[in-house]
Amino acid sequence: MQHGTRDTVVMKFGGSSVANRDQIEKVLEIVRTARAKHARVVVVSSAHKGITNALIETARAAQVGELTPRRVLDLQAEVAASLGCPDALLAPFFTEIRDLLRGIKLVKELSTRSLDYISSFGERMSVRCIADFFTRAGVPARAFDVWDLGFITDERFGNARPLPGYEAAMRDAFATRIPEGVIPVITGFIGKTRAGEITTVGRNGSDLTATLVGAALEAREVQIWTDTDGVMTADPSVVEGARNIPAMHFDEAAELAYFGSRMLHPSTLLPAIANNIPVRVLNTNRPAHPGTVIEDRVEPGGNIVTSIAYKERQTVLTIHSVRMFGQSGYLARVYNLLGEHGVVVDMIATSEVSVSLTTNTREALERALPALRELGRCEVEEGKTILVVVGHGLHDAKGMGARILGAMAAASVNVEMVSYAKHSINFSMLIADADIGRAVPVLHRELFSSTRG
Ligand code: ASP
Ligand code: MG
Repeated sequence: MQHGTRDTVVMKFGGSSVANRDQIEKVLEIVRTARAKHARVVVVSSAHKGITNALIETARAAQVGELTPRRVLDLQAEVAASLGCPDALLAPFFTEIRDLLRGIKLVKELSTRSLDYISSFGERMSVRCIADFFTRAGVPARAFDVWDLGFITDERFGNARPLPGYEAAMRDAFATRIPEGVIPVITGFIGKTRAGEITTVGRNGSDLTATLVGAALEAREVQIWTDTDGVMTADPSVVEGARNIPAMHFDEAAELAYFGSRMLHPSTLLPAIANNIPVRVLNTNRPAHPGTVIEDRVEPGGNIVTSIAYKERQTVLTIHSVRMFGQSGYLARVYNLLGEHGVVVDMIATSEVSVSLTTNTREALERALPALRELGRCEVEEGKTILVVVGHGLHDAKGMGARILGAMAAASVNVEMVSYAKHSINFSMLIADADIGRAVPVLHRELFSSTRG
């Protein structure tokens, strides 16, 4: 085993990439090619498309007394049969799922702990089917539950993270447990505590598993294989002219992930940034397309604007108070209260007599309101969208603000707040949820198809 080389590539395949036999055959060819090129190839897989949702729905049904295991078992069995996997491969899991659902029905309780446990079956079954199929197709592979390779997490069910020092444990496990020439096919999304309880890193978390594994193995690159040509300039389902972004800096991608782009789980990039590992987003249906590389480098002469993203259903709080006038420490008091109640703030704008801020932690805000009312008159509005333009060149492009706001005027969209800091890589605006469908196409046309953005 080529230990310590940087020629390890972690390839993560999402639910749609492993949805059925047709898709898994594409994955097989992609892995076969990669295996010929790199010293070590590690596959991280999601559950087959729809399985995690089906598991969760079935568990919720069991909680209210309906026992419908077939809903998920049939779905899984169909994929396994199409791949030619023997029944015995999944039989123990099917038994365990049935038992678990019966248990949930009996106790009428579904804690975050049991939710993680039931959700974990999707990945545990998919990796076994995939490894079995690969091996029969001439690419020797072995399925692993990620915890058997050192990925032990804390106890935050639904949002667990590996324990400090997991990297060394994983490096050891890889060096000793994976036979030469065999491709490990590893479960994304899940983990296990030291006490042996199953956890998850959060919905859509297989990307995060991939970057965490990549960080542990000091990978040359982490590849996220999905069903679009890399990261796009805007959501292609909303904007017709949306196109691929060939390269972007880590911080641009982090902004995008945070502001609603469904591309990446928001925490995915953290391990990659911390270890300076490029993340490449690729299309399983078009493997020859170069996709998007996300790394610690800005293309010289690259685009001023990289993309447009948005986050809907935000709440705005405005505090009006003349007490702010000429006062020091007023905002500190506001922030302290918000912090105490766990209110996460995204955008903020202040004047001498008011401060407006946005959050999507509405419940936390409710808890903070009585104390905030001591600081001034509070107004809460819902149904807002934060629309952001992301790009490294924004801060020294003259007239960019006028172009962005001009496009909003042309789309007859009212901009209620604006936030743009010095050297910022994002220009954020607050608009009504109802306006998003009008705003994005016009803004995209202005920034990406007129004079070069
Ligand atoms: N299967 C998990 C989910 O559906 C994790 C993932 O797909 O990344 O959330
Ligand atoms: Mg995903």
